[in-house]
Amino acid sequence: MKKCSYCGAEYSDDTSVCAIDETPLGGSPETQPEAPEAPDPEEIVVPPIEGLAGLDMGFSIVEGFSRPDWKAVRQYLKVHVAKEDLRAAWNYIPTIWLKTLAEDLGGGSRVYQSPSFSCLSDLDPETTKTLLDYAETVVRVIRNSLKDAAWSGFFGKHVLLFFSDPDDYYAYISYFYPEGTHILSYGIFLRKGYAHIVLPYVTTGSAESLLVHELCHNLLCHLQIPLWLNEGIAVTIQFQMALRPLIVDHELADRHRAHWNETNIQTFWSGKSYNLPGDNSDLSYSLGQILVNVLSEENPAFIDFVKNADWRDAGQDAAMRTLDRDLGEVLGGFLGPGNWRPQRKAISEQQKKNPPA
Ligand SMILES: [Zn+2]
Repeated sequence: MKKCSYCGAEYSDDTSVCAIDETPLGGSPETQPEAPEAPDPEEIVVPPIEGLAGLDMGFSIVEGFSRPDWKAVRQYLKVHVAKEDLRAAWNYIPTIWLKTLAEDLGGGSRVYQSPSFSCLSDLDPETTKTLLDYAETVVRVIRNSLKDAAWSGFFGKHVLLFFSDPDDYYAYISYFYPEGTHILSYGIFLRKGYAHIVLPYVTTGSAESLLVHELCHNLLCHLQIPLWLNEGIAVTIQFQMALRPLIVDHELADRHRAHWNETNIQTFWSGKSYNLPGDNSDLSYSLGQILVNVLSEENPAFIDFVKNADWRDAGQDAAMRTLDRDLGEVLGGFLGPGNWRPQRKAISEQQKKNPPA
């Protein structure tokens, strides 16, 4: 009997790869070194349904990486794959995509599978599996926190890309930004095409923390929620996972009170301030977190608020309806007297110049 070193599933001796996560099961010590090499099980990917045999993902190479034509893939599925086979099709397609990326990347890059994730990584297998195990835990925690506000009803696993070299990371994500954009980023959730998370690896600890943050965005990506709420939830769950309490001391409170005024608060509500340098961005993440903490504290209606909050009014309408709270007043409780209410007009003007990604 053989046991999968990754998930523990048991197989007969003649099985070479785990059916659940594709981990090679390793040979018995008697394996003859002269025996002809079996094809690498990682290389064999058979389409699960006949209709997929002719699938061309329309890859074009940009910045050294194969970029699928997702529109064409979806169109192909519409014509060639029956509805009841879509789940199987979407379990297969990301694997083909990631294997192509692994060829682009070369080196020790490989495709890994876990129950909820398909992953491309050029880190060593042990580190990759540590991160995948962690990601499985985190998905459960986030779903538990967000309840039915969390994304569900989709096909295909979540996709994770781990890059050991920051240059590869930036080359990969540059495709998603207009030319000339300067991006400084430590990890990103990309919604376009097939939603996926990309992380540059520095340490396992930092990668785990970023995974929590980006997975929150992933599980909220079906909602039209304002950026402050999206980021506020991500930072809040990141802190919870790190067992780090939110501490708002005098110094932080003073920084907020010195920074925000009745005009620039609209950049917070529209999400624009998150992309402005220095204090703007730092204090936006902090204010979003504070607001989420105030609104969610022992309030089961918070989930309804998340489901209904709309970026066009920064969630004001939903806050009034579901929480019976005025966002301007809640903020006033922290920043002091003033008109802090989200203003639709100011938000829409800023969104026009700076549409949400
Ligand atoms: Zn974020």
